[in-house]
Amino acid sequence: MRDPITAPALLSVDLDALARNYRTLGQVSGLPVHPVVKADGYGLGAQAVAKRLMGEGADTFFVARAAEGLRLRSALGPQGAGGPVIYVLDGCREDEANALKAADLRPVLNHPSQMQAWAAAGGETCGLQIDTGMNRLGVRPEDAPEAFDGLALVLTHLACADDPQNPMNRRQRDLFAGVVGRYPGVIRSFANSSGCFLGPDFAFDAVRPGICLYGGGPEGRPDARIAAVATLTARVLQVRDVPAGESVGYSQGYFADRPIRVATVAAGYADGLLRAYSPAGAVFIAGETRSLLGRVSMDVCAVDVTGLDVAVGDPVELFGPNRLLDDAAAAAGTISYELLTSITPRVPRAYSQ
Ligand SMILES: *Cc1c(COP(=O)(O)O)cnc(C)c1O
Repeated sequence: MRDPITAPALLSVDLDALARNYRTLGQVSGLPVHPVVKADGYGLGAQAVAKRLMGEGADTFFVARAAEGLRLRSALGPQGAGGPVIYVLDGCREDEANALKAADLRPVLNHPSQMQAWAAAGGETCGLQIDTGMNRLGVRPEDAPEAFDGLALVLTHLACADDPQNPMNRRQRDLFAGVVGRYPGVIRSFANSSGCFLGPDFAFDAVRPGICLYGGGPEGRPDARIAAVATLTARVLQVRDVPAGESVGYSQGYFADRPIRVATVAAGYADGLLRAYSPAGAVFIAGETRSLLGRVSMDVCAVDVTGLDVAVGDPVELFGPNRLLDDAAAAAGTISYELLTSITPRVPRAYSQ
């Protein structure tokens, strides 16, 4: 246990659970898994995550930004020395092309201007994104270029994968299938996490999951096949009795209609505990799920511990195996992705095998 004074909040990352989720996604999809480790591995630490997944056999990773790719490359070593393949989803700005090339990073080209920039820099191996209807990034199928030298991977991204019944999924699949015939021998990468669960019709050559590796369920709710990976804990700073009729926290966000016992816990929005938890938030403390009271403030939040045996220094689970990530996200009116990527640098990360 860490000293509660110096580390009031802690994000614990269970690397064994990460490895189990990696294997599960490989089994469910029947395909090689190319993990997405953008946004510092969804907040868990891209280097630690990628190193463990390389130990499990992963040899290809996706990041969003060039800078993320550069950091990951220096941590994992050059491709010639056992380092992995790293794709950069943003593609390639003209002023980034040389740096990408020098670090052996592969841009996922999204637009003819990026293709020109990459070619002008003498760039070689790269990916290509086809926009099959999300209208976010990529070239439309009718504008997709003919096969070209250096193209190693072609991908598209599902807009509604967490809604298996949505006809958009099949529409995107059919558009993708219609265009990839142009690129014989090029790896076809289709499914994100939820897409891995859509069935064999949606399998191409490799899958590209993020959130399910990190413990989020495929349809935005807990799923028995996916293990919890990240646990956010904090410590009780003070316990107090609040008489009926008094209020708790900023703006009198909560009024006690009876005498209650309140634990003030050292986690606030500056740690990534979203202020939007008010009023529906809950945490796991002393073996029970208990409500947050009133507003989350910058450094602390208040928890109803009436009737519980709770003392200063006791641990509180904000999400983890007892307060599942998707449930916690729903209580804050958001998704697991935002919850994980909101944990701030103030919170130390600790890794267990
Ligand atoms: C973020 C992202 C992914 C991973 O999505 P998850 O839903 O987290 O599995 C895959 N592909 C692209 C293009 C992405 O931007």
